[in-house]
Amino acid sequence: MCRSVFHCFKYVCWTFFCKDIDIRIVFSSFKIKNFFSFKDPIPDALKSLVVHQFTCAGCNSRYIGETSRHFATRVKEYLSSDKNSHDYRHLNGSPSCKLKCSVDCFKIVDLAKTRLVLNSKKRSTSAA
Ligand SMILES: [Zn+2]
Repeated sequence: MCRSVFHCFKYVCWTFFCKDIDIRIVFSSFKIKNFFSFKDPIPDALKSLVVHQFTCAGCNSRYIGETSRHFATRVKEYLSSDKNSHDYRHLNGSPSCKLKCSVDCFKIVDLAKTRLVLNSKKRSTSAA
């Protein structure tokens, strides 16, 4: 049963005239916006749920860590207050390393969308 004149015409046209025609898409629209993001990139310091690596500028020791908070907040803790972290203990155990290291010794090596994924990524990064 036809819902409208147009629908009926389309049905008749398809049934009687177009049945054996192989229809292919010959044109698809191209949108420039697909190549650009409208969002500003998040600076590394403000990224959260990250796996990060500390590479000592003095002795090239490496430590892998993860945080679900802002990256810059965690790095600041490593450098000044988190006495239980390997990074803090390394830097305070070796004055020459502490002199050479700064925020630049920390870099983000991976990002995650959830804490569960973050933990698994840290484990796989540490094992590599
Ligand atoms: Zn060192």
